[in-house]
Amino acid sequence: MKSLHLRVPHWGQFDGLIHGFLGRWEGQSRAADFAFRLTYNGDEDVQTVKQNWCGLKQAFGLPRMMIITAKQVHGNTILRVSRPADKQAGAGDGLMTDASDLCVGVMSADCVPVLFVEPVRRIAAAVHAGWRGTAAGIAHRAVASMREAYGIDPAALHVAMGPSIGPCCYEVGPEVEAQIAANWRAELTGAWTPDGAKGRLDLRALNEAQLLGAGIPGSHIRKIGPCTACNTDTYFSYRKEGRTGHQLSFIGWRSSPRS
Ligand SMILES: [Zn+2]
Repeated sequence: MKSLHLRVPHWGQFDGLIHGFLGRWEGQSRAADFAFRLTYNGDEDVQTVKQNWCGLKQAFGLPRMMIITAKQVHGNTILRVSRPADKQAGAGDGLMTDASDLCVGVMSADCVPVLFVEPVRRIAAAVHAGWRGTAAGIAHRAVASMREAYGIDPAALHVAMGPSIGPCCYEVGPEVEAQIAANWRAELTGAWTPDGAKGRLDLRALNEAQLLGAGIPGSHIRKIGPCTACNTDTYFSYRKEGRTGHQLSFIGWRSSPRS
């Protein structure tokens, strides 16, 4: 098994940007997948989580860097990271920063990892959008938060959505549709396919519709990688596997150009 590290081809033009959507990593044992967690939510053995981070960085050959994450709670809170006091910024499902030499990251296992970049002001943000976060408009909220915190124009933002569960595998009930439609009825139109009593939800299409509504140009929005549930050899999928690990997606800026 290869350790997957997907990047956005178009973002190669942004000198000094570090980013990636990671998958499973080599050296993992399937039986121990449940232990391959990266978050300090209180119920993990701290030493195991530290070892997981270390193994992940080795597997992907990541440069020595600090990756700040959050305690993800399926909400729509966006945390502002300035200088790292800790590797975990608090409770929230999105992180944004204008600081250099650190990355913000989110963990996912079917939910949509969304990375944002503003290349002139060198702003970076990472968001975790499952159906609850998407119903709460987290992608839309991230754009508003960056606008408020840094005074940037949404039209200058570039966004990429990483590997996540596709409509091929994401069957949900009418109660999910109802909760999303309460705030995003128009956006849901192209992202919902009725299938008997249930339906199939395209989370990336729904987030894309929110991002377009927030003022991001369609040409700045990209979808990277496949359905996680169709590809459990290379990605974690909560829907397919039950309790499992998480893949990391991260983004940040170096303070000086690559030497
Ligand atoms: Zn699928």
